[in-house]
Amino acid sequence: MKVILLGPPGAGKGTQAARIAEKLQVTRAASGDLFRGNIRNNTELGRLAKSYMDRGVLVPDDVTIRLVMDWLDSPEQSKGFVLDGFPRTLGQAEALDRVLVDKGGINRVMYINVPEAELIRRLAGRYICRICQTPYHESFSPPRQAGICDKCGGEVYQRDDDKAEVVGKRLEVFFKETEPLVDYYRLAGNLKEINGEGTIEDVGNALIAALE
Ligand code: ADP
Ligand code: ADP
Ligand code: ZN
Repeated sequence: MKVILLGPPGAGKGTQAARIAEKLQVTRAASGDLFRGNIRNNTELGRLAKSYMDRGVLVPDDVTIRLVMDWLDSPEQSKGFVLDGFPRTLGQAEALDRVLVDKGGINRVMYINVPEAELIRRLAGRYICRICQTPYHESFSPPRQAGICDKCGGEVYQRDDDKAEVVGKRLEVFFKETEPLVDYYRLAGNLKEINGEGTIEDVGNALIAALE
């Protein structure tokens, strides 16, 4: 099973990806997590990606496609995968289609739709784990112990690009560059639209139901 989670920043992709991957018994990758891992290790790729991420714009396609294709290349991913945050441009979607052409292509694209005002509430209160990148929310999904990740004990922090100044730009970039993918996958016939406004539990159940 090969699944894409598509949706604006704050829609709940990261929150739901872990649950779906577990349910389907496949691995998952989040392009944003891969970039932040590189930033944390201070790699050349990390330094390049940071210069775009801090401004709320997309990392160029050539760099992003190479990063995700390297991840997809490993034998672990042959059973299937959940992709969170990739593709985000038509160029990325086409590149993904090309590499999967002999592997049956993508099975499902889950578009998690959430109104803009709610996205802003979610992003403003988001904190993530510095180590495993699990997302939390100060009101909607706080860690059991303030400031500490439930899963790994890592420190939770606010992403630089979740500050109000950058969030507006990221939403603008989503509508311009990523939203066209909704029609791209609708035409391809594998799009499922999910109302992402309910509780984390409700949205998770709707996603699992739509995958079955
Ligand atoms: P969100 O939680 O808002 O969906 P991500 O963690 O997925 O954010 O992405 C954070 C940033 O990383 C993006 O604003 C962008 O700069 C970069 N990024 C992540 N995925 C991609 C991608 N597929 N293409 C280009 N840039 C990306
Ligand atoms: P994305 O990966 O799409 O950017 P996240 O999964 O990181 O989104 O979620 C964004 C923020 O909203 C996080 O703080 C998360 O805890 C919170 N969140 C996710 N889903 C819901 C939901 N259904 N209701 C309320 N808050 C949510
Ligand atoms: Zn953690």
